[in-house]
Amino acid sequence: MDDAIFNDLLKSTKDMVEHVKRRQRMDNTDTDEEVEVCVSCGADTQYKKSDHIDYRLGYIEGSGQLCAKCSYTRTFIKGIHT
Ligand SMILES: [Zn+2]
Repeated sequence: MDDAIFNDLLKSTKDMVEHVKRRQRMDNTDTDEEVEVCVSCGADTQYKKSDHIDYRLGYIEGSGQLCAKCSYTRTFIKGIHT
């Protein structure tokens, strides 16, 4: 295959993937609020950046938000050591 055609195809595929990703992100959230990402594993958490930290579980002051899984693991490990 001609390199130029292949590169064009690759680029348009990437553009399409990005477009779909953006659409999915918009469909999943009713608002355009940013979702907090887990500081440990990088997964989306159930919280938005606008959510008050007092109402959150798994939020570490000075570090950030943990997802449910990491929050559980962390509590579990802490439980062993104390
Ligand atoms: Zn996590």
